[in-house]
Amino acid sequence: MTPCPQFIGGEWLQSKSAVTPVFNPSTGEIIAECPVGSLAEVNAAVAAAHAAFPAWRDTPPVERVRVLAKFKMLLEEHFEEIVTCNTREHGKTLVESRGDVKRGMEVVEFALGATSLLMGEVLENVARGIDCEAIRQPLGVCVGITPFNFPAMVPLWMYPVAIACGNTFVLKPSEKVPLTAIKIAKLLEQAGLPKGVLNIVHGGREVVDALLTHPQVKAISFVGSTPIARYIYEVGTKHGKRVQSNGGAKNYVIIMPDADAENSSRGVIEAAFGCAGERCMAGSTAVIVGSAEKSVLPTLVEVTRRIRVGPTDREAQPDMGPVITRQHRDRVLELIETGIRQGAKISADGRGVKIPDAPKGYYVGATILDHVQTSMTVAQEEVFGPVLNVMRMDDLDAAIELANKSFYGNGASIFTRSGKAAREFKHRINCGMVGINIGVPASMAWFPFNGWNDSFFGDLHMQGREGIQFYTQQKVTTSRWFSYGEGDIWHK
Ligand code: NAD
Repeated sequence: MTPCPQFIGGEWLQSKSAVTPVFNPSTGEIIAECPVGSLAEVNAAVAAAHAAFPAWRDTPPVERVRVLAKFKMLLEEHFEEIVTCNTREHGKTLVESRGDVKRGMEVVEFALGATSLLMGEVLENVARGIDCEAIRQPLGVCVGITPFNFPAMVPLWMYPVAIACGNTFVLKPSEKVPLTAIKIAKLLEQAGLPKGVLNIVHGGREVVDALLTHPQVKAISFVGSTPIARYIYEVGTKHGKRVQSNGGAKNYVIIMPDADAENSSRGVIEAAFGCAGERCMAGSTAVIVGSAEKSVLPTLVEVTRRIRVGPTDREAQPDMGPVITRQHRDRVLELIETGIRQGAKISADGRGVKIPDAPKGYYVGATILDHVQTSMTVAQEEVFGPVLNVMRMDDLDAAIELANKSFYGNGASIFTRSGKAAREFKHRINCGMVGINIGVPASMAWFPFNGWNDSFFGDLHMQGREGIQFYTQQKVTTSRWFSYGEGDIWHK
């Protein structure tokens, strides 16, 4: 059993609270026990972060960044170990885990630029002899609460930027995948981060509520499902915290009649079935426009039927791994059945997958539900599994209108050879991350991770310059000097 300690004030401590099992989704075996945490542990972690803040705030940005530079080197050195740990507790393939870790490392690279990114603004002579400057200062103790689906990347969206800005941090990773977060934090400790600057507490609702309402916590970054994201935003802001809260999504991929069959099928398949569909940027609905029904859809179905699902915790890798838990697998299967009952036609069937090597793993094969209608449950709920809905529309206007009815707003893509169609789509689509001839694209570290509508609650997104703005507050100083003062003997 892999240990699952908390990290408080620079000490790795075994919690005394009850535990919840962490599974290897490929086999169904229990690999660790994650503490449910306690109020006392939350208080200790926040107190440690609060105590570490004054010295860390006053550490010159260039010295803070040097710790992160060492951290980045250690992440490279231990890359494959992190990848293996990630795959073992999450179930995604090794290739997908490498992507997960790399995307997180890019945020560390971005945070290495903090010395430039933190620079303020100055205007000389705002009035005669008066100058004005705006500088950015850290907030204090910041908190991160993260989901199961990107065990490496999502925590790394948060604390490297927060601590580069001079804040201290308490991370509460998902109780389903705590091990990768621990492994990565150990490298930051090894890089020389002072005690208490980063802390980790484990747990669920009780621990989250204690963090949300703690008087010494200044800011909350959350990533997870929409109902919880909304709750975090409401409770956090009510308690005076700055909050950025990313929710769930339902992303549309529009395939125009002139789209290249092979490239667009590949793009849709990667978007729909990458990480077994457990991505907030999953392209979970393909909107087939006009004759794309004949030119693209048959290839899409044929390639989907060939996707091999299987265990990811061994050398021979499948195309797609399991979903996170048995309960989640049952929910996905139930949503497929509901879709069929409500009139969808199954054209690639991932039900009833049997993996003789790993009979207790949580597998659902790649599934396509065709002729989905907006009223169906599968069209309305985020499935978060390897299920692609196919809907059909007569033209681009109708396809955009359909996508814009969604109350989510993370991403959408179009496949077309027409610049005009792409331009119209980009201009009119109601979401924050747009793809043109590419599967629904998650923004890279230098750009905001830009959810709209019910996919995001708050004002400043994670990543990019908005991340720096979120973790700092501005101070504007206006100054005037009347005389040179005593001692300036050289001036007449
Ligand atoms: P989740 O909402 O169940 O859990 C997220 C975090 O909230 C976990 O740390 C969990 O312990 C905590 N939590 C769960 N229930 C809670 C409650 N009642 N009160 C307080 N805290 C609670 O999400 P998940 O299943 O871990 O992750 C999948 C979801 O995350 C999907 O909806 C996906 O779209 C979303 N997601 C969004 C983004 C984004 O950037 N928009 C990125 C990744 C995942």
